Amino acid sequence: MRFDIITIFPKIFDSYFNESILARAEKKGIINIKIHDLRKYASDKHHKVDDTPYGGGAGMVMKIEPVYRALLDLKIIKKDGMKNKRFSKNTKVFLMSAKGEKYNQSLAGEFAKLDRIVLICGRYEGVDERVAKYLVDGEISIGEYVLTGGEIPAMAIVDSVSRLIGGVLGNKESAESESFSQDWRLEHPHYTKPEIFSPNKKTRWTVPEILLGGNHKKIKEWKERHSAKY
Ligand code: SAH
Repeated sequence: MRFDIITIFPKIFDSYFNESILARAEKKGIINIKIHDLRKYASDKHHKVDDTPYGGGAGMVMKIEPVYRALLDLKIIKKDGMKNKRFSKNTKVFLMSAKGEKYNQSLAGEFAKLDRIVLICGRYEGVDERVAKYLVDGEISIGEYVLTGGEIPAMAIVDSVSRLIGGVLGNKESAESESFSQDWRLEHPHYTKPEIFSPNKKTRWTVPEILLGGNHKKIKEWKERHSAKY
């Protein structure tokens, strides 16, 4: 699975993607994350990627041209602005947008079947609407709140999609029994050592008795009972 992220803040991704599970998956060659600096695709000497909005109003709007040039360079589109057919089937391009389709675990599952995902991160007041209209397959929102940019949404998508790809997590089980994946259930609570945690002499915070015993049938029942329907 290849991810391409188009952003004016490429450095934001360095620390997150270079740690832990995602870094390991990249090393193993299971995923490949490429960050593209949108400013590189600005045509003027000041590398201007934004401009004032038509019709007035506060803030700046990201221009279509640098996005077009970035997608052209990635060979996602052709010079005429149309999708490059060679890629269109298993490659999808999404604009991060607060008004986009709500992202959730089933969408993550759909995305995990693709070969390549290109994510465009907006900033400022947003992106010239013609990007959404003509250059992408869809707009994705990670929730009903407004962030300062599309970088966190892009990270959330790369993270949640990657862990569904075989070989990314340590064992396959851990993705399959998880929250949302089976019938949209929320996974049961988890406990680990110590058996009793006492923040003071009078307080004992314990672990459910059943989990401490070896009765696998009972444990299984407990886990089922304590997972909630989403
Ligand atoms: N003026 C816009 C907000 C722009 S926020 C409005 O009122 O809706 C700047 C950028 O952050 C957006 O272009 C988008 O790429 C990203 N963004 C903000 N909130 C987001 C969310 N909930 N999901 C996905 N992207 C988001």
